[in-house]
Amino acid sequence: MDKERLIDDYGREIRSLRFSLTRRCNLNCIYCHSEGEKREESVTGEISAEVVVEIARVASVYFDIRKIKFSGGEPLMRDDLVEIVQGMRDFEDDISATTNGVLLSKYAAELADAGLDRVNVSLDSLKEERYDFITSSRNNLPKVIEGIYSAIDARLTPLKLNMVLLKGINEDEIVSMVDFVRECNKRGGGEMAILQLIELIPSFNHKPLQGSRDRGAESHTMLNYKADFYELEDELKSKASAIKTRELQRRKKYFVDGVEVEVVHPIDNTAFCANCSRLRITSEGKIKTCLLRDDNLVPIESVDEKHIINRLKLAVKYREPFFHTST
Ligand code: SAM
Repeated sequence: MDKERLIDDYGREIRSLRFSLTRRCNLNCIYCHSEGEKREESVTGEISAEVVVEIARVASVYFDIRKIKFSGGEPLMRDDLVEIVQGMRDFEDDISATTNGVLLSKYAAELADAGLDRVNVSLDSLKEERYDFITSSRNNLPKVIEGIYSAIDARLTPLKLNMVLLKGINEDEIVSMVDFVRECNKRGGGEMAILQLIELIPSFNHKPLQGSRDRGAESHTMLNYKADFYELEDELKSKASAIKTRELQRRKKYFVDGVEVEVVHPIDNTAFCANCSRLRITSEGKIKTCLLRDDNLVPIESVDEKHIINRLKLAVKYREPFFHTST
């Protein structure tokens, strides 16, 4: 069967689906956008495993979309994550999850057996006090490190370490993070991990920060912590032995001291949006056309194949680049 291509009015073809499986999380990161869903709203019902698998199947069979990412909330808090991965392993090329890593040492091997290909693990600091501050939690950093090692042992690789750069909080840890990635590579005996530096994205979940000891407290909104990514990229350029550009959102990869460092710099970046090839599905089963918009959600109300096809096509019609040139 000839597959149809899902292409929006801006010429962007959809190549991947990003499912938010839950809004529940075992951490409470100060900056979290929760994939564009409201963190504090009570959970009214989560998308079922059956619906997740069926959307993925239809997208794969009819539109040749074979790349899936699970996020949340914390996707490892879903009891049925293994079942979901198993349900789609036969028709997907690339199944990954982004996780905070707290539960990873428990599930890494099982998820790899089920068909998960790789993970991104959020790790913003290697210093316990900072990590606790950023995640509003205690005693989790050792569990996350253990989780990262388990994921490498289970070959959920290349494992990406997601570090959201926060001005005045963790910017001075890039070198230690590069060293940590090198240590992970050594442990796995090859190129196992990549450092991903992520620009802080504004979110309606951001509030004035409570308990920010060193920075004048309540009057600071999260955006005061936004690091300068133009400066960062200049610095990486000067240190890199090689630079590449990924097709996905034109992301830059720098090779620094033998470690791959990828930069996710979406804000005011028209090239980032112009190359966006993903549709998102919310934890309540609505298609979301952009992380930064929730005024044109498209609910999926049944597992009927035709319904899912039509809903995917409708969502694609609604897609617009959030940052775009006005000419
Ligand atoms: N709990 C999982 C985790 O920690 O990876 C999945 C959810 S989290 C929303 C997914 C990714 O979004 C994480 O890598 C996190 O660092 C990133 N993220 C969350 N809020 C962000 C923000 N305001 N700006 C940029 N990245 C953000």
